[in-house]
Amino acid sequence: MIESAVAWANAVLPAQAAWAAVLLRRTLEYLMGPVRDFGGRFHWLALVAALILAGWVFAFRAAPSAIPLGDAPPARGLRGFLRYCFPRRIWLNRSTWVDLQVGFVNHVYAYAAANLFWRLSGAVVAAWITTWLTATFGPSPIGAEWGLGALLAFTVLMSMAADFGYFLFHWASHRIGPLWEIHKLHHSAEVLSPLTAARVHPFERLAMGPIQAVITGLILAPALYLYAGEVTVLTILGLNAMAVLFNMLGHVLHHSHVWVYYGPLVGRIIVSPAQHQIHHSALPQHLDRNFAEHWAFWDWIFGTLYLPKQRETLTFGLAGVATQPHGNVAAAYLRPVLGAARSAFALAWRLAARAVPRRQPGAVQAPVPEPPRR
Ligand SMILES: [Zn+2]
Ligand SMILES: [Zn+2]
Repeated sequence: MIESAVAWANAVLPAQAAWAAVLLRRTLEYLMGPVRDFGGRFHWLALVAALILAGWVFAFRAAPSAIPLGDAPPARGLRGFLRYCFPRRIWLNRSTWVDLQVGFVNHVYAYAAANLFWRLSGAVVAAWITTWLTATFGPSPIGAEWGLGALLAFTVLMSMAADFGYFLFHWASHRIGPLWEIHKLHHSAEVLSPLTAARVHPFERLAMGPIQAVITGLILAPALYLYAGEVTVLTILGLNAMAVLFNMLGHVLHHSHVWVYYGPLVGRIIVSPAQHQIHHSALPQHLDRNFAEHWAFWDWIFGTLYLPKQRETLTFGLAGVATQPHGNVAAAYLRPVLGAARSAFALAWRLAARAVPRRQPGAVQAPVPEPPRR
């Protein structure tokens, strides 16, 4: 794939811009390489870290009220710990079963296209900005070497940029009707397990990719330019160091009943698992809060941060929706698309109605549907 993209670039570019094909190759290699693949939140390291954190909560923090209702009373020891980690109320819930099916279909069929689109859009944006930089400032200074400080800064900045793209798209998904119809699938989970992270409509990934590509491109492209296409990130055991850090801090537990909160100071910088659990809460005070995935300061800056003052009892699912709209895998894939189409039509109708300033006196107005809002 990389070879054919480079051959295509060579064919369409003039001879004096051959360096752009080299940059394209480097960019694609970077975007498709293992360092971009974050190791996934189901990497064994992430799961071990989650178990250790859950063990710490179970041993020192979990009050009986923190044990999910409907399960056996908390017992100490290994048996009690396993019951705490894998409560039947969650793992045998129909909602978790839908999580599993959606996650499986996404993994096998849907994400390949979305990921390819995301990477290609990332490569195109980065190559385009780098081309502009070269045209404006001349050829890149060949020979710049990556020092540890620069590598660390690049790794952290790329992670912040990717999370800002996530934050923006996630915010828009809660504010714009058609996007909310697609994102609603993730929020219709009535219990949270690590599998809920996979309960995401593939269209959401498809649409988010270019947004993240543009924002990370603003960091990636100058690095490609300055270091003549030689970019990499800091890795630990071959995984992106930031992903390892976030996994150590309990990224897997973002979707779980295990309440881990690092306090208001850290909570303003990094998203504690409890903060994402609050994002899923259907309680009015929690709606449209905590949009960032990793860096909580995006929410802090934009006024959407919610930090708990104490352990809160949360109810998950869609606010004000009595019946589960995504109770099986077919509904999980089809209903969001139909809902988005309906919502887009309603939105177009509203915009058209607004664009017509004067109405005929006495004319009967068609009812204008309100956009859905959490
Ligand atoms: Zn959301
Ligand atoms: Zn979530």
